[in-house]
Amino acid sequence: MIYLDYAAHTAPDPEIFEIMDRTAREFPANPNAHHALGKAARTAYEACIRNILDACRLETYELILTSGATESNNLALKGAAKMNAGFGRHILTGPLEHSSVTGTLATLAAEGFEVETLPVDEAGKIDLDALRNMLRPDTILVTVGAVNSETGIIQNLKAIGKTVHENGDALFHTDATQAFGKLNLYYRQCDLITLSAHKIFGPTAGAGALIKHPDALLKREMDGGISMTPYRSATPDLGMMRALEHCVVSHYESMEKNFFTVRRHLAKLTDFFRQFPTIQINTRENPYLINLSTAVDGERLTADLARQEIYLSTKSACVASAVIPPAVYALTGDKKRAKNSFRLSLSPRTTDQELLRFMRRFTKTYKRLLHE
Ligand code: PMP
Repeated sequence: MIYLDYAAHTAPDPEIFEIMDRTAREFPANPNAHHALGKAARTAYEACIRNILDACRLETYELILTSGATESNNLALKGAAKMNAGFGRHILTGPLEHSSVTGTLATLAAEGFEVETLPVDEAGKIDLDALRNMLRPDTILVTVGAVNSETGIIQNLKAIGKTVHENGDALFHTDATQAFGKLNLYYRQCDLITLSAHKIFGPTAGAGALIKHPDALLKREMDGGISMTPYRSATPDLGMMRALEHCVVSHYESMEKNFFTVRRHLAKLTDFFRQFPTIQINTRENPYLINLSTAVDGERLTADLARQEIYLSTKSACVASAVIPPAVYALTGDKKRAKNSFRLSLSPRTTDQELLRFMRRFTKTYKRLLHE
């Protein structure tokens, strides 16, 4: 098997199971319990939060453990919108957000919030002048994903956040699911940051976080119960928290090394794909992801490769299979090019041997499909 779909999911590190197992044995009590055993669990939980925030240099922020990026996006957007509805109902969003952002914004729009979409330039980056002009006194929230999961395009969070904060009181949220722990992005202009552990070799699914600035107040989504944070009740899950800590801290420690590894892989793949006159490279600015268009249908090509146990995707797993890859379509304005596109997402665990095998299989498969 050759797995090249790390933007969709990464299998947990073997240490994850060991950490969760050990934590369950070491800390049998509820961190909310008032006795010494409970307090020990609470102290360990708080230490994880501090370690995570220190690792990503967001020491002054708070962290809410969630079940993943979908929940974090829902909590951030609904929580911020409802908390600030008295000041305004205007929300700005990037044009190519994940469905857990667009779906949440659709619900908010149905509840009377006005959602407007920011334009991007020809490179797919948010147009800062347009953002400045679209910010209004009643704008309460701006949400722009850090990295698009289909194209890998990276947004300038520092410049967007600065523009938002210099032109009003709106909160700036970013869905950093595809960036966190991989790219050294500047998050200190963000008020709310979404991340997910299963993109960085964390628990299979079910662990994520919303990192928030202490001044960013949210209306809580869940009623009843108490927890370590007023924003999400339920018994704090120390095992998940320790697993999240492991992924974030280890990824921040090895970020530079990982970056150079994937960049080397990307350079090889770029040289390889450039040999094919009928293949266009759509994006490669993010070393973790390369997006290409060929002369055959992307779904047909990826299905054929999957039959040979080579796994890659045409687009985000959260986009319905019948939909043509929306980000490539938006970037190129070319329906055929989007339909014929696919993405290949890498990880520092990708090996040279895997890439060599992939290239051999791809060449054979592509040549056959071109003549079928
Ligand atoms: N946002 C982005 C950009 C994603 O890529 C994903 C996962 N495909 C999500 C949100 C949802 O993440 P989770 O599975 O942790 O809910």
